[in-house]
Amino acid sequence: MTGMAQKISRREFLKLASGTSLFGLGVLASGCASEQKQSGGEGWMPDQYHGRGDFPAQLKGRVAIAPENAAIVRDDEKCILCGQCIEACEKVMSVHGYYPLPIKDETACIGCGQCTLWCPTGAIAERPALQEVEAALADDGKYVVVQTAPATKVSLGEEFGLAPGAVVSAQQVAALKALGFDAVFDTCTGADLTIMEEASEALVRLTKKQEELPHFTSCCPGWVKFCEYFYPDLMGHLSTCKSPAAMLGATVKTYYAAKMGIAPESIVTVSIMPCTAKKFEAQRAELSEDSLADVDYVLTTRELARLIKRHGIDFSALAPAAYDSVLGESSGAGRIFAATGGVTEAAVRSLYYFATKRQPPADLLSWQAVRGLTAIKEAQAEVPGVGMVHVAVVSGMAAARRVLEEVRRTGRSRWQFIEFMACPGGCLGGGGQPKSEFPADEAVRRKRMEALYAEDKGAPRRMSHENAEVQTLYRAFYGAPLSERAEQLLHTHFEDRSGRLFDRETQAKA
Ligand code: SF4
Ligand code: SF4
Repeated sequence: MTGMAQKISRREFLKLASGTSLFGLGVLASGCASEQKQSGGEGWMPDQYHGRGDFPAQLKGRVAIAPENAAIVRDDEKCILCGQCIEACEKVMSVHGYYPLPIKDETACIGCGQCTLWCPTGAIAERPALQEVEAALADDGKYVVVQTAPATKVSLGEEFGLAPGAVVSAQQVAALKALGFDAVFDTCTGADLTIMEEASEALVRLTKKQEELPHFTSCCPGWVKFCEYFYPDLMGHLSTCKSPAAMLGATVKTYYAAKMGIAPESIVTVSIMPCTAKKFEAQRAELSEDSLADVDYVLTTRELARLIKRHGIDFSALAPAAYDSVLGESSGAGRIFAATGGVTEAAVRSLYYFATKRQPPADLLSWQAVRGLTAIKEAQAEVPGVGMVHVAVVSGMAAARRVLEEVRRTGRSRWQFIEFMACPGGCLGGGGQPKSEFPADEAVRRKRMEALYAEDKGAPRRMSHENAEVQTLYRAFYGAPLSERAEQLLHTHFEDRSGRLFDRETQAKA
């Protein structure tokens, strides 16, 4: 890829930087990088800028954000060109600097929102959706359903002065009911549904379709877009499962709508997510059925806090409330989805059960080797009838790139199952989470993670296949995992996006 990089002209850089108002301040590009970078190569970005002597920060540039970016936006008035977003995008995510210039058809962004956490002035933020959600809530003709992701339950409290890791699920539900949502569901139920499908799919691959191994998880839209951009040749390894939020949304607009006698067209689905990439995911054409999107609007944890404050709700005084039934029950496995390694642990618990018809041994209910904030973890589990299943757990796309290069180089690789999460630590460190520490801090992520595992340990049911509401859902509607209806509503396909960044022929030769 390095050889493809071209020298950037000042005009091209201005195009890259997408937004010119700051350049009116007299900031000048000093030239091109003299040193070959890890990727992207010579000329990818000027090394430095010469601003006015009294400019308040050392100017280093910024990531490019296209005006049509569905996940994030930038307020040029607040940008001080400090370069922090570049640090996050290049070093943590390995997106900035990893495609050739000049820009071909698209400004690459996987929507992860890590730059919003690193931006010291708040210039980069999630693309807002509060107005649309408030309009839906005010519309008597709409039935507005909301779901809350597991990571938000251990972080929303930080916006109201509570310590990181304070579990506020019941207060969050109460706040959403006070805001006027018609039904409040749990994305963890969607996570249990995802595990029913994904563990079944992985079992088929492990026993019958070994050419599709290693199996890649697909619940993180940031990671999925990264794969579509940079590793389209490995897309066949991706699980076809939709994300938990999309699965829940699709189920609300079909099963729940029919059960409640509500026209699907009048249902508006909102998801509260730790994630900015979910805003992009919600707009994917593949994630809609008969022109009805699985998820209509996504609010980040930060946006929900803003909404609660804007409506004068005293969060600390809220009486706890419970999720609504039908799609409100969660297993411990569904609750740990927000931590890196959580999807793997949840999937292997149920995969073991599906393969053996016996509950997994106790050590798989507390699988320490896949827990923790390390960027790349490896573990193995013996599943009778399947053999030793070797897993890798990866968070942060810079780490993912290392693993993917190995898979690409070796073909089969030494792993059978690989979990990828774009954000460091998984969704608990998502780009839509409260900015309780600046810069984003591992201690905060650790507290949130510990709270999630405590939630799992204390859950009355620890495995996704034990979730009674999910069992009812299969009996009444989906039939069985991987059934025709499940494939239609709960699975999806992906798009090779590499051609938007690279000349495919040149890339093939690189
Ligand atoms: S959202 Fe992620 S990929 Fe996009 S510019 Fe920010 S850090 Fe880079
Ligand atoms: S790790 Fe979670 S928060 Fe981050 S991009 Fe993926 S789904 Fe979103």
